[in-house]
This record gives sequence, C-alpha cells and structure tokens, in this order.
Amino acid sequence: MKADELLGRLQGVRQSGRGWEAHCPAHEDRKPSLTIAVGESGALLLRCHAGAGCPLDKIVAAIGITKADLFPGRATRGTRDGRRRIVATYD
Ligand SMILES: [Zn+2]
Repeated sequence: MKADELLGRLQGVRQSGRGWEAHCPAHEDRKPSLTIAVGESGALLLRCHAGAGCPLDKIVAAIGITKADLFPGRATRGTRDGRRRIVATYD
C-alpha cells in the first residue's frame, strides 16, 4: 500500500516534517495523535501518540487494513532497483 492510499483513509491529514499526522482512528481523537512516516524499506510506519498510544493492531483494524498492507512488497512484483524485496510476514 502506498502512503497516498493510506492517507486517503484517514481524517485530518496534514504534512508534518518528513511524514504526516492525522486523527487516530482507533480512539476518540480530537487532535492529530497519529503520525505516519515511510520507513527506509518503504514500509509505512504508524504511531499513536495519545496517552500510552493505541496498539498498531487496533489502528490498522480501525482503518480497515492489515499490518501486511503497510509493507510495499505485497502489491509489487520484483524489485525495480535491485534492493532486497521486503516480504510481509505478519500474521
Ligand atoms: Zn490512538
């Protein structure tokens, strides 16, 4: 899944530094507590900063995706630049 696709499923998205922030879908969020970033491997990194923070399982479930969707290897075949392909092994 690309960042754009993920951001399209979130509310209150705005750019923040090298990533984005948005309302966390896993709890009643009045300010953007969720940060979204793209890791070196291309995987999407989600983190809720409210209180103890919502577990990633809860966040992806609230978005309607799985943790495997956060990895770029799933929808793409092969590699374009010769780097090792990231294979999603969650669940
Ligand atoms: Zn949250």
